[in-house]
Amino acid sequence: MPGFEIFGDEERKEVGDVLDTGVLFRYGFDQARKGHWKARMFEAELSERVGVKYSHLCSSGTAALNIALASCGVGAGDEVIVPPFTFIATIEAVLSAGAVPVFSEIDETLCLDPEAIEKVITPRTKAVLPVHMCGAMARIDEIRDFCDKKGLILIEDACQAIGATLGGKALGTFGQMGCFSFDPVKTITCGEGGAVITDDKELYTAADNFADHGHDHIGNDRGLEGHPILGTNFRISELNAAVGLAQLRKLDYILEKQRANKKAIKDALSQPDLKSAKISFRKIPDEKGDSATFLSFLMPDESRARKVAMNFGKAGVDSCFFWYDNNWHYMRNWNHLKKLKSSAMLPVKLLDYCPDYANVNLPQSDGIMGRTISMLIKLSWREEDLTQRIEKMIDVLKIN
Ligand SMILES: *Cc1c(COP(=O)(O)O)cnc(C)c1O
Repeated sequence: MPGFEIFGDEERKEVGDVLDTGVLFRYGFDQARKGHWKARMFEAELSERVGVKYSHLCSSGTAALNIALASCGVGAGDEVIVPPFTFIATIEAVLSAGAVPVFSEIDETLCLDPEAIEKVITPRTKAVLPVHMCGAMARIDEIRDFCDKKGLILIEDACQAIGATLGGKALGTFGQMGCFSFDPVKTITCGEGGAVITDDKELYTAADNFADHGHDHIGNDRGLEGHPILGTNFRISELNAAVGLAQLRKLDYILEKQRANKKAIKDALSQPDLKSAKISFRKIPDEKGDSATFLSFLMPDESRARKVAMNFGKAGVDSCFFWYDNNWHYMRNWNHLKKLKSSAMLPVKLLDYCPDYANVNLPQSDGIMGRTISMLIKLSWREEDLTQRIEKMIDVLKIN
């Protein structure tokens, strides 16, 4: 997820436009801004790029999730089905909404298993929030069909998957709303930023209002604007939006490079003489649509996965992740969530149906994550870096 690797003159130019005018705010100051509307332009180009009618930029991917939940009417006491493999932000957003995260199993796509969702549905289930982890897709068409059948809202956390598609359709466009992040480690970055996307005008309007204290953005005097709803401040600054705009224009280059680098490694690991290593790859429902930010593969058992991950580290194969032991991306080590530790009383604690997060049982997910290793695919690798990396990986996989 390496947008930061290709920061250059294009980003400097966009930021320069903003600094020249001194208008760092995305709204108003029409005269002073000399025609520079970076957030607005980023939104227009993003909508075009992913093929939706509306985009709203905001201050982070976490903010995008909060905005999407609020705009879709998910709030106090509503249950939202989430996967245990995600960045903790997904869960925090549900809790901030006063809603209840309900965990469901993942499958070998490393995303929510559409066949498992039914088991955790209750009369209070309001939404399903699948996460397209590590640049590739959930079986999102099946999840969408399920949500349609049950009358559930579908919000996609595509924070790690901008540019990825299923059957040519962008991830983030399958449900009512999709969320992206442009934080420093994502495919494209603007320092801090995020976006919600939708085809639904009402949802877009709700998002646009909610993210700016309920401002309706009608007329040209901010102080006189109406406030149809209460909201909060999840605004992005023009400086961040300017960087993001330059990065978005590099997305196709990034995808092409990642796909080529990933293919070289995947092909090498698929060689017949590595059969004894018994590697299998993450299931990707549409290989062509993979944004290829990560290569993920499964070892035959947990002890071997842990050993291989450790030996990759020793051999200098960097940027590999054994998520099962990771503090931030898999539920197993979320002890703060298990005890619902927060700086103040969480709304979910007031509910008599608040789940016992210390005792969530997800054997299928544990079985998969306990065997999975992921490797970040970088843009900056030269031919010889790639060759060396492959050699080292094969050495580790053959010996262990
Ligand atoms: C990064 C990320 C987020 C949060 O994005 P921020 O911009 O860092 O707030 C949410 N969900 C997933 C899956 C992420 O990877």
